[in-house]
Amino acid sequence: SQDNQKPWRVLVTGGSGMVGKGLQCVVKEMRGAKEGEEWLFLSSKDINLLNLENTREVFEKFQPTHVIHLAAMVGGLFMNMRQNLDFLRNNLTINDNVLLASHEIGVTKVVSCLSTCIFPHEAPFPLDESMILLGPPHDSNYGYAYAKRMVAVLNRGYYEQHGRRYTAVIPTNVFGPHDNFSLADGHVLSGLIHKTYIAKRDKTPLDVWGSGTPRRQFIYTVDLGRLLLWSLRDYDEIDPVILCGEESEVSIKEAAEAVKKAMDFDGEIVFDKSKAEGVFKKTASNAKLRKYLPDFKFTPFDQALKETCDWFVANYDSARK
Ligand code: NDP
Repeated sequence: SQDNQKPWRVLVTGGSGMVGKGLQCVVKEMRGAKEGEEWLFLSSKDINLLNLENTREVFEKFQPTHVIHLAAMVGGLFMNMRQNLDFLRNNLTINDNVLLASHEIGVTKVVSCLSTCIFPHEAPFPLDESMILLGPPHDSNYGYAYAKRMVAVLNRGYYEQHGRRYTAVIPTNVFGPHDNFSLADGHVLSGLIHKTYIAKRDKTPLDVWGSGTPRRQFIYTVDLGRLLLWSLRDYDEIDPVILCGEESEVSIKEAAEAVKKAMDFDGEIVFDKSKAEGVFKKTASNAKLRKYLPDFKFTPFDQALKETCDWFVANYDSARK
């Protein structure tokens, strides 16, 4: 699928976020870029994707041949519940602007980033790529979910009407350096890491919400970066592909114990069963990914977690939290 005519110019939206930093690591530190390729990682300071004119201007100026679209309005459960309309409108606008500006300027390939939390609330397990539009998403984040789902619909339209190869990937829960480690509005793992940091510092027990039995699938930002690069170079379908490893599903209890080990915390873990804990599981299938990449090696969970914890401790003052 590589276009050999001219060197690629790859524009990455959301380049300053957690996923964007993982991709930067793969492209720059791990030498994922090819000779002659140019990569531009943009933050919201460089481009306002809510504004079509500004989006067009930046695209005109850089003339990308390829786009990896990671930017989104993202937030935790409670922020989603309070602002479903904002999540819907902002993400619809951002995604529409990116795909339209890409099409207008002749970008040959766009890879956008969806999320497993857009799947129907009542879909059977394991979730697969064919189920995205089969029923309503969970009430708590319907705005974010419907907006992300429309990317798959737009990609279909750009292909059928204009022959554009715009596609999307669907990662499970992402973790790594540069995550939002907020205790109130962060993700499961980053929240656990921050809590463990405090428990270790204050010599208090690690207090985990819920029973610890729910199971979640995680993907490390560096692995996601490698797979984003693969999808840009070699994944030729318009339909999205789920990204996760088969051994990636762990219980919250196992995750808490792994964080305890990675942070070298020797205190006690207490599960507060009076607190809400969400759905028991939402297992996604990586059969399609494995059909393409049977030998892809994911970073072992303990190692990825250790790297994330070490980063958080080293960057405690400046980390988002
Ligand atoms: P972050 O919050 O870390 O990063 C969001 C990025 O989007 C930042 O670079 C931000 O720029 C940029 N951005 C937000 N609004 C705008 C805007 N109006 N104009 C331009 N840029 C904007 O998110 P993640 O890295 O975690 O997420 C990246 C993608 O991955 C998203 O599409 C998300 O839906 C998806 N995803 C994430 C998962 C996760 O567990 N985190 C799971 C599955 C999918 P700035 O830094 O300047 O604010």
